Amino acid sequence: MQLKRDLKQIFRALDFVGKHLNGRRPPKATQQLYFDVYQALGLAWEFLGLQCKHWDGYKCGRDGKQVCRICGKIKGVQERLFLLTDSGMKRIGRRAAPTSKKTFANKSKAQIVHDQMVFHGAFVDVDVHNSYKSSLFGKDHEITVAADRTVTLKESGIKCSVDEHVIDLKIEERQKGQKPPYGGFPWELSKEKLKHFPVIFRFDDNYRFLGLTIIRPVKKL
Ligand SMILES: [Zn+2]
Repeated sequence: MQLKRDLKQIFRALDFVGKHLNGRRPPKATQQLYFDVYQALGLAWEFLGLQCKHWDGYKCGRDGKQVCRICGKIKGVQERLFLLTDSGMKRIGRRAAPTSKKTFANKSKAQIVHDQMVFHGAFVDVDVHNSYKSSLFGKDHEITVAADRTVTLKESGIKCSVDEHVIDLKIEERQKGQKPPYGGFPWELSKEKLKHFPVIFRFDDNYRFLGLTIIRPVKKL
């Protein structure tokens, strides 16, 4: 069977290149080259895998998942690869927003997009959903979660999420068992207390709020 042979060849080539990529000290000069070859081989696997009808059935993979004996694809998982340009702007997906005024029975029914990626070390999460009923606080305390689009960025320990109503910035993740932090508007605090916060407000002549800058303590990136 031609396809089976082709796939075997690709797997051997992937193993070979993979070994060089993950070797203890791959020489810098060839690393990018091997990376490129690995990507091309991965793409070839994808194309060949599309032709695979999984005739030989599945075997149990390492994590208990059913894996095709020929192409190595996991059963029931529809995988799609994105082709992205190496240079220039990368785009995945379109800007999604809530689509309905209805309140759905649960989050998965209300979900429009929930996708994540790690981009050069920065984590990005996009969560778009219509309104839904949530029993997060127990069956008797069902609440309605409003339709929203939330984009979260995590970078060097800082989590910033932006949704319809709030721009939320967390500099330190709360540890388990730790007291919840206090919160307050600046005018609720004395000048003395405000000096603890390295925040600069941006505003115009009419004191229209235009943003803020937070000075970070000196720390290695
Ligand atoms: Zn297959």
